[in-house]
Amino acid sequence: MASRKEFIAQSACMMAGYFVFAKMHLHNSNQVMTVNGWMNADKMGFTLTHEHVLVDFAGADKIDPSRYDAEEVFRTALPKLLSVKEKGCKTFIECTPNYIGRDVKLLKRLSEASGLTILTNTGYYGAAGEKYLPAHAYTETAEQLAKRWIAEWENGIDGSGIRPGFIKSGVDNYPLSAAQKKIVEATAITHLATGLTIGIHTGNGQAAMEELRIIQSKGVAPQAWIWIHAQNETNRDVHMRAAKAGGWVSFDNINNDSVPSCLSFLKNMKDASLLDQVLLSHDSGWYHVGESQGGNYNDYNTIFDKLIPAMKENGFTEKDLQQLFFINPSRALAVSVRKK
Ligand SMILES: [Zn+2]
Repeated sequence: MASRKEFIAQSACMMAGYFVFAKMHLHNSNQVMTVNGWMNADKMGFTLTHEHVLVDFAGADKIDPSRYDAEEVFRTALPKLLSVKEKGCKTFIECTPNYIGRDVKLLKRLSEASGLTILTNTGYYGAAGEKYLPAHAYTETAEQLAKRWIAEWENGIDGSGIRPGFIKSGVDNYPLSAAQKKIVEATAITHLATGLTIGIHTGNGQAAMEELRIIQSKGVAPQAWIWIHAQNETNRDVHMRAAKAGGWVSFDNINNDSVPSCLSFLKNMKDASLLDQVLLSHDSGWYHVGESQGGNYNDYNTIFDKLIPAMKENGFTEKDLQQLFFINPSRALAVSVRKK
């Protein structure tokens, strides 16, 4: 017969097991899903929310991992990741979707070798004239597409055991095509089943507003949605409308040339007390499949080297930087079902 002490220990274990089970199945947490599994969102640290390691623009009908040497990509990407880690980055959100070069095993290796936390994604990208949508995206319903993405969440991606940390999709300018509307619907269905945040590459502000309408019509709260490439829209009223609704407005094209326009977007959002809905990143990288040695692989350092110093000169405080690079990414990406 078990002693009272053992009984208490066993009960505690069972309770702990129950809470793990509950957390996995309720999907409401303050945790993010990395290529190495669950992690507390408050451990993310300084986060770049939109970057790339490997991209292949061959098209959904031609793409194949045999088109590149993963070892060469690893050797090319690692110094760039180590360099930005040295600058203070701790978490790196890799936004390359399936059919454009998502390679989750490569990302896991790079995460382990660099010490950076990396998140990958599920979902389909319908922008760029739908060149990266597989044929079944046209024949299947939103529910059927969502089922495929939910399966990646539940079982891991392509037998790797590596699970997506968010949903990545893409649409062009307004009006959305039938296929684009359907994949946005599929992101909403997937969100409700998984709690994964929805990031959508977006042509313009009107398209962003249409995305918001679609996900809300499916019962998803704007808090679960990231408007990727919000800088494409120059009408700041639309940024503010999205942020006031609770959506995440991502200015993610930061490079030497765009620092002044980014500063101007940021000042506008700060004046409207909306910095707590903004995400910033470079959309940089990447090893370009099809080019010799991967072509010109840009680094991820401009935010550290140029933007942050410029922000400080323009009156942005340490608290603003904490909000933008630490707090917002962890709130945006924590796995949690957000219902309207
Ligand atoms: Zn991108």
